[in-house]
Amino acid sequence: QEKDYQFMLRTRSPGGFIPARLYLTLDRLADEYGNHTLRVTTRQGFQLHGILKKNLKAALSAIVRNMGSTLGACGDLNRNVMAPPAPYKNRPEYQYAWEYANNVADLLAPQTGAYYEIWLDGEKVISAEEAPEVKAARGRNVNGTIFPDKEEPIYGDRYMPRKFKCCVTVPGDNSVDLYTNDVCLVVITNRKGELEGFNVLAGGGLGRTHNKEETFPRMADPIGYVDKEDVYDLMKAIVATQRDYGDRANRRHARMKYLLHDWGVEKFRAKVEEYFGKKLAPFKPLPNWKYQDYLGWHEQGDGKLFLGISVENGRIKDEGSFQLKTALRKIVEQFNLPIRLTPNHNVILYEIEPSQKSAIEDTLHQHGIITDPKEIDPLVRYSMACPALPTCGLAIAESERALPGAIDRIRALLDKLGLAKEHFVIRMTGCPNGCARPYMAELGFVGIAPDVYQVWLGGTPDQTRLAQAYEDKLHISNLEGFFEPIFVYFKQNKRSKESFGEFCHRVGFEALREFSASYELG
Ligand code: SF4
Repeated sequence: QEKDYQFMLRTRSPGGFIPARLYLTLDRLADEYGNHTLRVTTRQGFQLHGILKKNLKAALSAIVRNMGSTLGACGDLNRNVMAPPAPYKNRPEYQYAWEYANNVADLLAPQTGAYYEIWLDGEKVISAEEAPEVKAARGRNVNGTIFPDKEEPIYGDRYMPRKFKCCVTVPGDNSVDLYTNDVCLVVITNRKGELEGFNVLAGGGLGRTHNKEETFPRMADPIGYVDKEDVYDLMKAIVATQRDYGDRANRRHARMKYLLHDWGVEKFRAKVEEYFGKKLAPFKPLPNWKYQDYLGWHEQGDGKLFLGISVENGRIKDEGSFQLKTALRKIVEQFNLPIRLTPNHNVILYEIEPSQKSAIEDTLHQHGIITDPKEIDPLVRYSMACPALPTCGLAIAESERALPGAIDRIRALLDKLGLAKEHFVIRMTGCPNGCARPYMAELGFVGIAPDVYQVWLGGTPDQTRLAQAYEDKLHISNLEGFFEPIFVYFKQNKRSKESFGEFCHRVGFEALREFSASYELG
């Protein structure tokens, strides 16, 4: 008899868009086949955990028949394309970001019919037609014979050396952690709000391996600017560059960030331009980036409202008096509302009529859900954890189940030291793969052994600088002893309005270590 193999299903949801019908399907599947929870991922998809092998086909086909897909959500190809989750209807740059996130996802979707043959007995169910310009661009031969394969015109017969991650965002909005992507497109509009083109960044990626110095997190570099007419050809040229020159011998060196690192930006750009058949224009000036989580109530710009709900560690579940899963099901059922998942594993309900606001608030409050973000401890609000144990096969330490306890202890320590008003971005992962992007946090925990974490310090509140490894092996039982001197030093020496991550970066690790060594615990 075959073992009860369990699987994880992950949705392909560009820009985090989940139609009401798909949400209700996922909610049902979690109960019928999963572990009764839904997990919002840090790339704006949903994960269902604990699906038995014998139920995979039923679960997957239900997703596809209900406006969803899992095609390309895992594997060595383009993954879920991210975009800012705020559903603004009166800000054209946001509309462009969603449109192009969708189109890039379509452009880079594998063309094989195997997915439909295996999971839907060959029936090609397509929930939305792709844009004609995407279809035309996919088959177009840009420069010589770079895209020769008929069946898979972009990936060819070998797909990519490794996973490939893209996002599309708008100037100033870093809700997507743009620097962590292989490619990021930034919408550039003219004064009238019309789309002109995109700034392009390339070569970001966070995954690394413990004790392998040659693996490291890397931030994307500005590559140039492209007019909107050429953006699909440019995306193809970048993908083809990585497809043809990415390292296929060593998976630890296979992400495109290593190509950027080994070649440098100039050589990478030159190769991309060769494939593209044109020069890239210079990168356009941009305002500073700001992290936004869009929690609480907001106007969406067309008379309707949206509500961002904090989901601690991304887990939608019912547990004791906390009944988020039931509350969301009731609300989506009653009001037929679409959802956008955020890159910080939160949930945004939108298309809400002002007349529906109080009923939605009441339902959430009755189920133990906080709707006013000011009532959430900001340490929790801005934190992220990956799933890790028990559902991720790569986990070597706890994350989702350990972070709430760690944050409680950090909160108690800050309060004790007279730093009650301080908060910073804390992220934790159960292995160095870095799914919850700990290397961009002000304080990152990266599991290295059971109950033992590397500590990364020095990122910024807006995720615009990499943190650095400060400590290699912190046993979680020593959390207070380890952080007390660091926080005391922070209190004594911080500049006005300086965040914890900025402070650690400014004073440097040597100063932190020296102070910690001479500190006597109070
Ligand atoms: Fe990702 Fe590692 Fe966390 Fe698994 S344990 S979810 S691979 S970071």
